[in-house]
Amino acid sequence: DGMTLRDLSKRSGAKINALQSILADLGERVESEFDSITIDLAELVGMELGVNIRRMHTGEGTVEPRPAVVTVMGHVDHGKTSLLDSLRQTSVAAKEAGGITQHIGAFVVEMQSGASITFLDTPGHAAFSAMRARGAAVTDIVVLVVAADDGVMPQTLEAMSHAKVANVPIVVAINKCDKSGADPERVRIQLGSEGLLLEDMGGDVQVVEISALSKLGLDKLEEALLLQAEIMDLKARTDGPAQAFVVEARVDRGRGPLATTIVKSGTLVSGQYIVVGAEWGRIRSLRDTVGKVTESAKPAMPVEIEGLRGLPMAGDDVVVVDSEERARMLSQGRKKKQEKDRLRKIDENMTEEAEIGEETPERVEMPIIVKADVQGSVQAVTDALRSLNSPQVFS
Ligand code: GDP
Repeated sequence: DGMTLRDLSKRSGAKINALQSILADLGERVESEFDSITIDLAELVGMELGVNIRRMHTGEGTVEPRPAVVTVMGHVDHGKTSLLDSLRQTSVAAKEAGGITQHIGAFVVEMQSGASITFLDTPGHAAFSAMRARGAAVTDIVVLVVAADDGVMPQTLEAMSHAKVANVPIVVAINKCDKSGADPERVRIQLGSEGLLLEDMGGDVQVVEISALSKLGLDKLEEALLLQAEIMDLKARTDGPAQAFVVEARVDRGRGPLATTIVKSGTLVSGQYIVVGAEWGRIRSLRDTVGKVTESAKPAMPVEIEGLRGLPMAGDDVVVVDSEERARMLSQGRKKKQEKDRLRKIDENMTEEAEIGEETPERVEMPIIVKADVQGSVQAVTDALRSLNSPQVFS
Protein backbone atom coordinates (compact mmCIF):
# COMPACT_ATOMS: atom_id res chain seq x y z
CA ASP A 1 0.00 0.00 0.00
CA GLY A 2 1.49 3.23 -1.15
CA MET A 3 0.57 6.33 -3.06
CA THR A 4 1.85 8.05 -6.14
CA LEU A 5 3.56 11.40 -5.97
CA ARG A 6 0.63 12.75 -7.91
CA ASP A 7 -1.83 11.56 -5.24
CA LEU A 8 0.33 13.08 -2.54
CA SER A 9 0.45 16.35 -4.43
CA LYS A 10 -3.34 16.41 -4.67
CA ARG A 11 -3.82 15.57 -1.02
CA SER A 12 -1.24 17.97 0.32
CA GLY A 13 -1.69 20.78 -2.17
CA ALA A 14 2.09 20.90 -2.69
CA LYS A 15 3.75 20.98 -6.11
CA ILE A 16 5.42 17.85 -7.46
CA ASN A 17 8.88 19.41 -7.46
CA ALA A 18 8.44 20.60 -3.87
CA LEU A 19 7.61 17.02 -2.91
CA GLN A 20 10.62 15.73 -4.83
CA SER A 21 12.87 18.15 -3.02
CA ILE A 22 11.58 17.06 0.41
CA LEU A 23 11.98 13.44 -0.62
CA ALA A 24 15.53 14.17 -1.72
CA ASP A 25 16.24 15.57 1.74
CA LEU A 26 14.98 12.27 3.11
CA GLY A 27 17.36 10.44 0.81
CA GLU A 28 14.71 9.24 -1.63
CA ARG A 29 14.87 9.93 -5.34
CA VAL A 30 11.48 9.84 -7.00
CA GLU A 31 11.65 10.64 -10.70
CA SER A 32 8.10 10.54 -11.95
CA GLU A 33 4.85 11.79 -10.52
CA PHE A 34 3.42 8.36 -11.25
CA ASP A 35 6.00 6.62 -9.07
CA SER A 36 4.69 5.23 -5.84
CA ILE A 37 6.03 5.84 -2.34
CA THR A 38 5.10 4.07 0.90
CA ILE A 39 2.46 5.55 3.22
CA ASP A 40 5.17 5.91 5.84
CA LEU A 41 7.23 8.05 3.56
CA ALA A 42 4.17 10.00 2.43
CA GLU A 43 3.48 10.70 6.08
CA LEU A 44 7.00 11.96 6.66
CA VAL A 45 6.66 14.27 3.69
CA GLY A 46 3.25 15.35 4.97
CA MET A 47 4.83 16.18 8.28
CA GLU A 48 7.41 18.38 6.63
CA LEU A 49 4.55 20.21 4.94
CA GLY A 50 2.44 20.39 8.08
CA VAL A 51 -0.24 18.15 6.57
CA ASN A 52 -1.43 15.02 8.28
CA ILE A 53 -1.42 12.39 5.59
CA ARG A 54 -2.14 9.42 7.82
CA ARG A 55 -5.22 10.92 9.37
CA MET A 56 -6.53 11.95 5.98
CA HIS A 57 -5.99 8.41 4.91
CA THR A 58 -7.34 6.12 7.58
CA GLY A 59 -9.51 8.25 9.79
CA GLU A 60 -10.79 5.23 11.74
CA GLY A 61 -9.27 3.53 14.74
CA THR A 62 -10.44 3.36 18.31
CA VAL A 63 -11.47 6.80 19.52
CA GLU A 64 -11.82 7.21 23.28
CA PRO A 65 -12.46 10.06 25.70
CA ARG A 66 -9.24 11.61 26.97
CA PRO A 67 -8.32 13.89 29.88
CA ALA A 68 -8.06 17.64 29.33
CA VAL A 69 -4.67 19.36 29.19
CA VAL A 70 -4.73 22.59 31.17
CA THR A 71 -2.41 25.62 31.23
CA VAL A 72 -2.43 28.18 34.05
CA MET A 73 -2.07 31.83 33.02
CA GLY A 74 -2.49 35.22 34.63
CA HIS A 75 -0.74 38.38 35.84
CA VAL A 76 2.59 38.12 37.64
CA ASP A 77 2.24 37.49 41.38
CA HIS A 78 -1.42 36.57 41.11
CA GLY A 79 -0.57 33.03 42.26
CA LYS A 80 0.02 30.80 39.21
CA THR A 81 2.99 28.99 40.72
CA SER A 82 1.29 28.64 44.10
CA LEU A 83 -1.79 27.19 42.42
CA LEU A 84 0.25 24.65 40.47
CA ASP A 85 2.11 23.68 43.64
CA SER A 86 -1.13 23.15 45.54
CA LEU A 87 -2.73 21.20 42.71
CA ARG A 88 0.37 19.04 42.36
CA GLN A 89 0.07 18.12 46.04
CA THR A 90 -3.52 16.98 45.55
CA SER A 91 -2.52 14.55 42.80
CA VAL A 92 -2.84 10.88 43.64
CA ALA A 93 0.67 10.35 42.40
CA ALA A 94 1.97 12.85 44.93
CA LYS A 95 0.09 11.08 47.71
CA GLU A 96 1.53 7.75 46.67
CA ALA A 97 5.00 9.18 46.60
CA GLY A 98 4.57 10.80 50.00
CA GLY A 99 4.10 14.24 48.53
CA ILE A 100 7.23 14.10 46.43
CA THR A 101 6.86 14.38 42.68
CA GLN A 102 9.46 15.00 40.07
CA HIS A 103 9.21 18.21 38.17
CA ILE A 104 8.99 17.05 34.57
CA GLY A 105 6.88 19.84 33.07
CA ALA A 106 3.44 18.34 33.61
CA PHE A 107 1.49 16.45 36.22
CA VAL A 108 -1.82 14.63 36.51
CA VAL A 109 -4.54 15.16 39.09
CA GLU A 110 -6.79 12.14 39.53
CA MET A 111 -10.28 12.47 40.95
CA GLN A 112 -12.11 9.98 43.09
CA SER A 113 -14.42 9.36 40.13
CA GLY A 114 -11.44 8.06 38.18
CA ALA A 115 -11.40 11.07 35.87
CA SER A 116 -8.15 12.98 35.60
CA ILE A 117 -6.78 16.34 34.49
CA THR A 118 -3.31 16.98 33.07
CA PHE A 119 -1.68 20.27 34.05
CA LEU A 120 1.24 21.84 32.24
CA ASP A 121 3.70 22.81 34.92
CA THR A 122 5.19 25.88 33.27
CA PRO A 123 2.97 28.84 33.94
CA GLY A 124 3.07 31.92 31.82
CA HIS A 125 2.37 33.29 28.45
CA ALA A 126 5.78 32.98 26.87
CA ALA A 127 5.69 29.19 27.14
CA PHE A 128 2.14 29.09 25.76
CA SER A 129 3.07 31.31 22.81
CA ALA A 130 6.33 29.47 22.12
CA MET A 131 4.44 26.19 21.95
CA ARG A 132 1.80 27.63 19.69
CA ALA A 133 4.39 29.23 17.45
CA ARG A 134 5.70 25.72 16.76
CA GLY A 135 2.18 24.53 16.05
CA ALA A 136 1.88 22.61 19.29
CA ALA A 137 -1.74 23.03 20.24
CA VAL A 138 -1.59 20.96 23.41
CA THR A 139 -3.69 23.12 25.72
CA ASP A 140 -7.42 22.40 25.87
CA ILE A 141 -8.37 24.78 28.67
CA VAL A 142 -6.74 27.87 30.19
CA VAL A 143 -7.12 28.58 33.91
CA LEU A 144 -7.04 32.36 34.18
CA VAL A 145 -5.76 33.28 37.64
CA VAL A 146 -6.81 36.71 38.89
CA ALA A 147 -5.88 37.90 42.39
CA ALA A 148 -8.98 39.04 44.25
CA ASP A 149 -7.08 41.89 45.91
CA ASP A 150 -5.49 43.19 42.73
CA GLY A 151 -8.05 42.63 40.02
CA VAL A 152 -7.63 42.62 36.26
CA MET A 153 -4.13 43.70 35.21
CA PRO A 154 -2.27 43.99 31.86
CA GLN A 155 -1.15 40.35 31.80
CA THR A 156 -4.67 39.22 32.68
CA LEU A 157 -5.83 40.83 29.45
CA GLU A 158 -2.85 39.40 27.60
CA ALA A 159 -3.76 35.90 28.79
CA MET A 160 -7.35 36.46 27.68
CA SER A 161 -6.22 37.43 24.23
CA HIS A 162 -3.81 34.47 23.97
CA ALA A 163 -6.65 32.10 24.84
CA LYS A 164 -8.94 33.80 22.37
CA VAL A 165 -6.47 33.64 19.50
CA ALA A 166 -5.83 29.97 20.24
CA ASN A 167 -9.55 29.36 20.53
CA VAL A 168 -9.10 27.79 23.96
CA PRO A 169 -11.86 28.20 26.56
CA ILE A 170 -11.12 29.89 29.88
CA VAL A 171 -12.05 28.89 33.42
CA VAL A 172 -11.51 31.81 35.80
CA ALA A 173 -9.90 31.19 39.20
CA ILE A 174 -10.25 34.21 41.45
CA ASN A 175 -7.31 33.66 43.79
CA LYS A 176 -6.26 34.99 47.20
CA CYS A 177 -9.84 34.95 48.44
CA ASP A 178 -8.42 34.33 51.91
CA LYS A 179 -7.03 37.87 52.05
CA SER A 180 -8.84 40.61 53.90
CA GLY A 181 -8.72 42.97 50.93
CA ALA A 182 -10.21 40.36 48.58
CA ASP A 183 -13.02 41.62 46.38
CA PRO A 184 -14.09 38.83 44.00
CA GLU A 185 -17.18 40.73 42.94
CA ARG A 186 -15.05 43.56 41.59
CA VAL A 187 -12.97 41.03 39.60
CA ARG A 188 -16.16 39.62 38.07
CA ILE A 189 -17.32 43.06 36.99
CA GLN A 190 -13.90 43.91 35.54
CA LEU A 191 -13.73 40.66 33.56
CA GLY A 192 -17.29 41.18 32.37
CA SER A 193 -16.51 44.64 31.10
CA GLU A 194 -13.48 43.22 29.27
CA GLY A 195 -15.87 41.05 27.33
CA LEU A 196 -15.51 37.76 29.16
CA LEU A 197 -18.97 36.19 29.27
CA LEU A 198 -19.11 34.87 32.81
CA GLU A 199 -21.52 32.17 33.83
CA ASP A 200 -23.18 34.21 36.57
CA MET A 201 -23.85 36.92 34.00
CA GLY A 202 -25.53 34.58 31.55
CA GLY A 203 -22.39 33.50 29.68
CA ASP A 204 -20.62 30.16 29.73
CA VAL A 205 -17.25 31.00 31.33
CA GLN A 206 -17.07 29.34 34.75
CA VAL A 207 -15.71 31.28 37.73
CA VAL A 208 -14.35 29.71 40.90
CA GLU A 209 -13.16 31.49 44.05
CA ILE A 210 -10.02 29.93 45.46
CA SER A 211 -7.05 30.39 47.71
CA ALA A 212 -3.97 28.68 46.36
CA LEU A 213 -2.22 29.33 49.66
CA SER A 214 -4.79 27.89 52.05
CA LYS A 215 -5.96 25.38 49.40
CA LEU A 216 -9.56 26.54 49.47
CA GLY A 217 -11.82 25.87 46.49
CA LEU A 218 -9.33 23.68 44.64
CA ASP A 219 -11.88 20.86 44.46
CA LYS A 220 -14.38 23.30 42.94
CA LEU A 221 -11.80 24.37 40.39
CA GLU A 222 -11.11 20.74 39.48
CA GLU A 223 -14.83 20.10 39.11
CA ALA A 224 -15.21 23.15 36.88
CA LEU A 225 -12.37 21.87 34.69
CA LEU A 226 -13.94 18.43 34.42
CA LEU A 227 -17.25 19.99 33.47
CA GLN A 228 -15.55 22.13 30.83
CA ALA A 229 -13.77 19.04 29.48
CA GLU A 230 -17.07 17.19 29.37
CA ILE A 231 -18.71 19.98 27.40
CA MET A 232 -15.80 19.88 24.95
CA ASP A 233 -16.21 16.12 24.56
CA LEU A 234 -12.46 15.59 24.30
CA LYS A 235 -11.55 12.46 22.43
CA ALA A 236 -8.49 10.98 20.80
CA ARG A 237 -7.48 8.02 18.74
CA THR A 238 -5.76 5.61 21.09
CA ASP A 239 -4.41 2.97 18.75
CA GLY A 240 -1.75 3.28 16.13
CA PRO A 241 1.43 5.35 16.10
CA ALA A 242 1.56 8.28 18.48
CA GLN A 243 1.64 11.94 17.66
CA ALA A 244 3.00 13.88 20.60
CA PHE A 245 4.50 17.22 21.65
CA VAL A 246 7.43 18.14 23.88
CA VAL A 247 6.48 20.28 26.86
CA GLU A 248 9.90 20.34 28.47
CA ALA A 249 13.38 18.98 27.80
CA ARG A 250 16.59 18.81 29.78
CA VAL A 251 19.87 16.95 29.92
CA ASP A 252 20.46 14.63 32.84
CA ARG A 253 24.11 13.87 33.56
CA GLY A 254 23.57 10.16 33.86
CA ARG A 255 20.58 9.59 31.60
CA GLY A 256 21.31 12.02 28.77
CA PRO A 257 18.65 14.11 27.01
CA LEU A 258 15.20 13.76 28.55
CA ALA A 259 12.03 15.08 26.97
CA THR A 260 8.64 15.27 28.63
CA THR A 261 5.98 14.79 26.03
CA ILE A 262 2.23 14.72 25.92
CA VAL A 263 0.61 12.36 23.45
CA LYS A 264 -2.07 13.94 21.25
CA SER A 265 -3.24 10.74 19.61
CA GLY A 266 -2.20 7.13 19.33
CA THR A 267 0.01 5.29 21.78
CA LEU A 268 3.70 5.87 22.36
CA VAL A 269 5.50 2.61 23.08
CA SER A 270 8.88 1.96 24.65
CA GLY A 271 11.44 0.79 22.11
CA GLN A 272 10.03 2.79 19.20
CA TYR A 273 12.20 4.89 16.91
CA ILE A 274 11.18 8.52 17.08
CA VAL A 275 12.03 11.87 15.56
CA VAL A 276 11.55 14.79 17.93
CA GLY A 277 11.89 18.16 16.25
CA ALA A 278 15.24 17.79 14.53
CA GLU A 279 16.54 15.14 16.94
CA TRP A 280 16.03 11.41 16.85
CA GLY A 281 16.44 8.40 19.06
CA ARG A 282 15.03 5.11 20.21
CA ILE A 283 12.86 5.15 23.33
CA ARG A 284 14.99 3.45 25.97
CA SER A 285 12.43 4.11 28.67
CA LEU A 286 9.23 5.99 29.36
CA ARG A 287 8.57 7.32 32.85
CA ASP A 288 5.39 8.75 34.28
CA THR A 289 5.17 11.85 36.48
CA VAL A 290 6.36 9.99 39.57
CA GLY A 291 9.32 8.46 37.80
CA LYS A 292 7.78 5.01 37.43
CA VAL A 293 8.78 3.16 34.25
CA THR A 294 5.85 2.48 31.96
CA GLU A 295 5.64 0.51 28.72
CA SER A 296 3.40 2.95 26.86
CA ALA A 297 1.66 6.31 27.00
CA LYS A 298 -1.85 7.15 25.89
CA PRO A 299 -3.33 10.56 24.93
CA ALA A 300 -2.94 13.39 27.49
CA MET A 301 -0.58 11.30 29.61
CA PRO A 302 2.74 13.08 30.23
CA VAL A 303 5.78 10.84 30.00
CA GLU A 304 9.48 11.46 30.12
CA ILE A 305 11.34 9.94 27.19
CA GLU A 306 14.89 8.69 27.60
CA GLY A 307 16.94 7.66 24.59
CA LEU A 308 17.21 10.74 22.40
CA ARG A 309 20.53 11.59 20.75
CA GLY A 310 20.15 15.33 21.21
CA LEU A 311 18.10 17.86 23.13
CA PRO A 312 14.80 18.84 21.50
CA MET A 313 12.86 22.03 22.26
CA ALA A 314 9.57 22.69 23.98
CA GLY A 315 6.83 22.57 21.36
CA ASP A 316 8.68 20.13 19.09
CA ASP A 317 6.57 17.34 17.66
CA VAL A 318 7.24 13.67 18.25
CA VAL A 319 6.85 11.34 15.33
CA VAL A 320 7.15 7.57 15.35
CA VAL A 321 9.03 6.03 12.44
CA ASP A 322 9.65 2.41 11.62
CA SER A 323 13.42 2.22 11.47
CA GLU A 324 16.62 3.79 12.68
CA GLU A 325 17.52 4.64 9.11
CA ARG A 326 14.31 6.60 8.59
CA ALA A 327 14.73 8.35 11.93
CA ARG A 328 18.25 9.48 10.99
CA MET A 329 17.10 10.64 7.59
CA LEU A 330 14.20 12.71 8.82
CA SER A 331 16.32 14.21 11.58
CA GLN A 332 19.02 15.13 9.06
CA GLY A 333 16.48 16.63 6.70
CA ARG A 334 15.02 18.76 9.43
CA LYS A 335 18.43 19.92 10.65
CA LYS A 336 19.32 20.98 7.13
CA LYS A 337 16.07 22.88 6.86
CA GLN A 338 16.62 24.60 10.21
CA GLU A 339 20.08 25.71 9.12
CA LYS A 340 18.72 27.02 5.83
CA ASP A 341 16.02 28.99 7.66
CA ARG A 342 18.58 30.38 10.07
CA LEU A 343 20.89 31.55 7.28
CA ARG A 344 18.00 33.08 5.40
CA LYS A 345 16.98 35.00 8.49
CA ILE A 346 20.49 36.39 8.95
CA ASP A 347 20.49 37.34 5.31
CA GLU A 348 17.20 39.20 5.66
CA ASN A 349 18.47 41.03 8.69
CA MET A 350 21.65 42.10 6.92
CA THR A 351 19.68 43.41 3.96
CA GLU A 352 17.47 45.34 6.32
CA GLU A 353 20.53 46.75 8.00
CA ALA A 354 22.11 47.76 4.72
CA GLU A 355 18.96 49.60 3.72
CA ILE A 356 19.05 51.68 6.83
CA GLY A 357 21.92 53.78 5.64
CA GLU A 358 25.58 54.41 5.14
CA GLU A 359 26.40 55.17 8.71
CA THR A 360 25.62 51.69 9.85
CA PRO A 361 28.33 51.14 12.42
CA GLU A 362 30.50 48.12 12.26
CA ARG A 363 28.65 45.15 13.59
CA VAL A 364 29.80 43.78 16.88
CA GLU A 365 28.86 40.23 17.61
CA MET A 366 27.91 39.46 21.14
CA PRO A 367 27.43 35.79 21.88
CA ILE A 368 24.78 35.20 24.50
CA ILE A 369 24.43 31.97 26.38
CA VAL A 370 21.04 31.36 27.88
CA LYS A 371 21.08 28.96 30.79
CA ALA A 372 18.10 27.65 32.71
CA ASP A 373 17.16 24.49 34.53
CA VAL A 374 14.73 23.37 31.84
CA GLN A 375 14.55 23.75 28.09
CA GLY A 376 11.10 25.37 28.26
CA SER A 377 12.52 28.38 30.06
CA VAL A 378 15.50 28.63 27.72
CA GLN A 379 13.04 28.67 24.87
CA ALA A 380 10.97 31.42 26.41
CA VAL A 381 14.03 33.63 26.96
CA THR A 382 15.57 33.03 23.55
CA ASP A 383 12.24 33.67 21.86
CA ALA A 384 11.95 36.94 23.78
CA LEU A 385 15.48 37.92 22.67
CA ARG A 386 14.75 37.01 19.06
CA SER A 387 11.59 39.02 19.11
CA LEU A 388 13.51 42.21 19.94
CA ASN A 389 12.35 43.97 16.87
CA SER A 390 15.28 46.16 16.05
CA PRO A 391 17.62 46.20 13.07
CA GLN A 392 20.42 46.40 15.61
CA VAL A 393 19.59 42.99 17.00
CA PHE A 394 19.57 39.84 15.00
CA SER A 395 20.17 36.22 15.75
P1 GDP B 1 2.90 33.93 40.10
O1 GDP B 1 3.87 35.02 39.78
O2 GDP B 1 1.58 34.18 39.43
O3 GDP B 1 3.40 32.55 39.86
O4 GDP B 1 2.56 34.08 41.66
P2 GDP B 1 3.10 33.23 42.90
O5 GDP B 1 2.45 31.89 42.95
O6 GDP B 1 4.58 33.29 42.91
O7 GDP B 1 2.51 34.07 44.11
C1 GDP B 1 2.88 35.41 44.35
C2 GDP B 1 2.71 35.73 45.81
O8 GDP B 1 1.35 35.62 46.19
C3 GDP B 1 3.48 34.77 46.71
O9 GDP B 1 4.03 35.50 47.77
C4 GDP B 1 2.40 33.82 47.20
O10 GDP B 1 2.69 33.31 48.48
C5 GDP B 1 1.18 34.72 47.26
N1 GDP B 1 -0.06 33.98 47.07
C6 GDP B 1 -0.35 33.11 46.08
N2 GDP B 1 -1.58 32.61 46.24
C7 GDP B 1 -2.10 33.15 47.37
C8 GDP B 1 -3.34 33.01 48.07
O11 GDP B 1 -4.24 32.27 47.68
N3 GDP B 1 -3.49 33.75 49.19
C9 GDP B 1 -2.53 34.59 49.65
N4 GDP B 1 -2.78 35.28 50.76
N5 GDP B 1 -1.35 34.74 49.02
C10 GDP B 1 -1.12 34.04 47.90
